[in-house]
Amino acid sequence: MNLHEYQAKELFRAAGMAVNPGEVATDAEGARALAEKYGGSAVVKAQVHSGGRGKAGGVRLARSAGEAAEHATAILGMEISGLTVEKVLVSPIENIETEAYVGVLVDREGQCPVFMVSAEGGVDIEEVAATHPEAIHRLRVDPRYGLMPHQAYGLASKLYDDPKLVRQGAGVISRLYDVFMDNGASMAEINPLISTTEGVVKAIDAKVSIDDNELFRRTAVAALRDPASESAADARAREAGLSFVKLDGNVGCCVNGAGLAMATMDLVKYYGGEPANFLDIGGSSNPDKVVEALRIITSDPGVKVILFNIFGGITRCDDVALGIVEAVRRIGFDLPLVIRLTGTNEELARGILAEAGLAAVASMDEVVERAVQLAR
Ligand code: GDP
Ligand code: MN
Repeated sequence: MNLHEYQAKELFRAAGMAVNPGEVATDAEGARALAEKYGGSAVVKAQVHSGGRGKAGGVRLARSAGEAAEHATAILGMEISGLTVEKVLVSPIENIETEAYVGVLVDREGQCPVFMVSAEGGVDIEEVAATHPEAIHRLRVDPRYGLMPHQAYGLASKLYDDPKLVRQGAGVISRLYDVFMDNGASMAEINPLISTTEGVVKAIDAKVSIDDNELFRRTAVAALRDPASESAADARAREAGLSFVKLDGNVGCCVNGAGLAMATMDLVKYYGGEPANFLDIGGSSNPDKVVEALRIITSDPGVKVILFNIFGGITRCDDVALGIVEAVRRIGFDLPLVIRLTGTNEELARGILAEAGLAAVASMDEVVERAVQLAR
């Protein structure tokens, strides 16, 4: 789950980090009032889950409260990466001297958090990583001990020469580690971490992603979810308890079990196709779940064929078959459907499908190959 910048900054502030002030407005008048409060000039920033807001025209500097209102009008309702802006964050303008990058994320290989810092912040960090990776410094953290003070100073010294700035930078880096660990984050990033012409280090941007598997035990963080920022398909899948990830291909996949879903996607690729999604209907699938899964898949206009791959262990094939028949009846789509069913109650399932004029095969290769052909 991604947090908005203003929400991430609240977590930063609660952890005692130096962050620039700012408040959210949902209309031009609200933005005007905030700019007046900050002495007239202000920066107005789109609150959407997307990087590169600056490049998209979603970050604008205003020299007067009236200009702040105009910027808010322009930014609210704007689309950035397919997301509609519904809120802006209004902050006083900072006098920027330097822009650095500081991030911490999960290092899957090292099985620990890893810090990445660079004195070349503000811009696309991916671009720095691609063109001169030596400008990015990494440090793996042993979670048993946490980030030690000397490590925080070591990282900050990659960003600044002036000891006064290093000390402040180390403070920010330590707080960022606390936010990352205490909120079950998979990523926490500041880009840019600025030093001002007055010699103050502070975060003026914030990006935090929470690991979805942490949310059940972190109700305060879970409450930060903004349903408006989620795609309809994602929201539907979450409510129905389906794991769903939209992809760009045209073979809609409906599979039980994450491992089998991954294997299915691999096989789709192997036969020259492109999966339209990852979708795991879960272990014990009742027919309603299957109907909901098909609603999600068929609402993607890119899908050209629907591929079912069910291995019945705990999942009963007859439940899935009932769901398929029910979905065809209720949704009434006319996409080709290819089905592989094997395992628990397989015979029963075949009977149910046959009655509805549908057939299932037992071979995974066969069904995937056919799906890829039909998608062409
Ligand atoms: P992003 O493009 O979505 O990452 O949004 P950022 O919050 O990082 O802002 C993009 C850029 O706008 C920053 O790198 C700064 O150069 C600039 N910017 C943001 N806030 C201020 C500010 O208060 N003063 C000045 N001078 N520039 C700012
Ligand atoms: Mn940024």
